[in-house]
Amino acid sequence: MKFFTIAILLFFYSNSFSQNTFIHCGKLIDTKKGKVLTDLTIIISENKISAIKKGFQNPTSNQDQVIDLKNKTVLPGLIDMHVHLELESNPNRYLEKFTLNDADIAFQSTVFAKRTLWAGFTTVRDLGGSGVNTSLRNAINKGLVDGPRIYSAGKSLATTGGHADPTNGYKKDLIGNPGPKEGVINGVEDARKAVRQRYKNGADLIKITATGGVLSMAKSGQNPQFTIEEIKTICETAKDYDMHVAAHAHGDEGMQRAILGGVKTIEHGTLMSDKTMELMKEFDVYYVPTITAGKEVSDKAKIEGYYPEIVVPKALNIGPKIQGTFARAHKKGVKIAFGTDAGVFPHGLNAKEFYFMVEVGMSEIEAIQTATINNATVLKNDEIGSIEVGNYADIIAVEENPLDNIKTLENVIFVMKNGKIYKNL
Ligand SMILES: [Zn+2]
Repeated sequence: MKFFTIAILLFFYSNSFSQNTFIHCGKLIDTKKGKVLTDLTIIISENKISAIKKGFQNPTSNQDQVIDLKNKTVLPGLIDMHVHLELESNPNRYLEKFTLNDADIAFQSTVFAKRTLWAGFTTVRDLGGSGVNTSLRNAINKGLVDGPRIYSAGKSLATTGGHADPTNGYKKDLIGNPGPKEGVINGVEDARKAVRQRYKNGADLIKITATGGVLSMAKSGQNPQFTIEEIKTICETAKDYDMHVAAHAHGDEGMQRAILGGVKTIEHGTLMSDKTMELMKEFDVYYVPTITAGKEVSDKAKIEGYYPEIVVPKALNIGPKIQGTFARAHKKGVKIAFGTDAGVFPHGLNAKEFYFMVEVGMSEIEAIQTATINNATVLKNDEIGSIEVGNYADIIAVEENPLDNIKTLENVIFVMKNGKIYKNL
């Protein structure tokens, strides 16, 4: 009798921890094979995919949950390699440096993070902020805040007066002398220290601003801003800490130095020459286009007073060129990693990038692969980017087959991250 009672108790105890989720998928995109599969059941146990079975399987226990996506298309959670979750573009952006406290930035970043997750992006690289981005990552990992899995670069690295020098455009008595701690380096000693400082601050990767940029308070949007020795030192030091390096670059010379110096991704890549495209292939460097941001800055630059005067000509000149560069690079066989620069445009609109890629010649399935398996490869994380047994249960769904209508990815109706459902419309 006693044994019987214990057995019953054990049965209920174990069952209360073994709730599985059964997702019935009408269509499922196999990102590795580049194919659309039909009529499958994904079984999720805790935060991982434990089985994928043919047909629509019924649950084995009444504790199990069934999600009906029989009329939808299911994909792995999307990955954006270039976002800035701390901020969002607005006409007062340049004043915010003086008006927002870290706590203000932190609160708004939680809103942007949630919007990003709701748009179907379950993993992102945050390519530069004040360091609040790294705290946001920690809060999301602890389950305090809803948002994507974040790979944080912390504060980006620049040279004095370069694109990510935090005191550009300030009046003299506010400029100070930012150094490696603040992310400004000059010479190889500084370079090493800045990387180690990022590691100490909890960064997952390093971001450098290899050339001038559009939105900084500086004249050139494309000049090279690091020596090759500095970039080499950054990449070698980053490697010691198992971090990779992402390089913002618009101009060709700075891009070449970044590639030869050992970076893993080139962001924007606006003025990339054919020779540089060959170098990208030779050195296995991925191109993160950010077409959406390019279009956004050139649109906003036409609104008087939206950007400071020094920014406007750069935005009008550089912004519209990115889509053309992407088309050329893709044709030449440069590897593409999906990334948008969200924050330069409103968070949550990341999926607009897919249409811009398809519009100039990339196939729908390839575009989806850039945001899934390609990005998983760059991140050296083989547990994301595809729906496979053993992977994290990062799963999204859309109404239509995105291979017929890529814009359907702009309206994600179901989001699961790490086995937890965040959105189910
Ligand atoms: Zn950016």
